[in-house]
Amino acid sequence: MHQRDAVFLEELCPKLRVRRWRQSLHSYTGKSCIYCGQPSESIDHVLPSSHGGLSTTDNCVPACLSCNGNKSDAEVFDWYRQQHFYDPRRAMAIRAWIDGDIRLALKLLQWADPNRTSNQKKDKSKEIDLSLQAA
Ligand SMILES: [Zn+2]
Repeated sequence: MHQRDAVFLEELCPKLRVRRWRQSLHSYTGKSCIYCGQPSESIDHVLPSSHGGLSTTDNCVPACLSCNGNKSDAEVFDWYRQQHFYDPRRAMAIRAWIDGDIRLALKLLQWADPNRTSNQKKDKSKEIDLSLQAA
């Protein structure tokens, strides 16, 4: 009985950790898609896992389902430049994000979408752990 519980916890904990990590990614951008600014409903691998992209913070960005599905396995900047919502400030933010500079990325996103910034600043209850990485 105890043994079975232990196995269950081992299976459960990594999932909880991944879930918390995914939530932290969404909280960085105020739950908005890094590409278009719509509500983020998914995590997009900038370099697709099929191309060796890892599930780490610098390769995973909050994205809406539309962008995530639309981008698919395309090279991120090739794809992004062709979108009607293309914004060079967001492109710079994505570049900063995948370079591991989330703080700079968020500043660029705030520049691209100043209204969202003011909303985010009101919500001081959410402390963001910038060092959090996927296991
Ligand atoms: Zn989007």
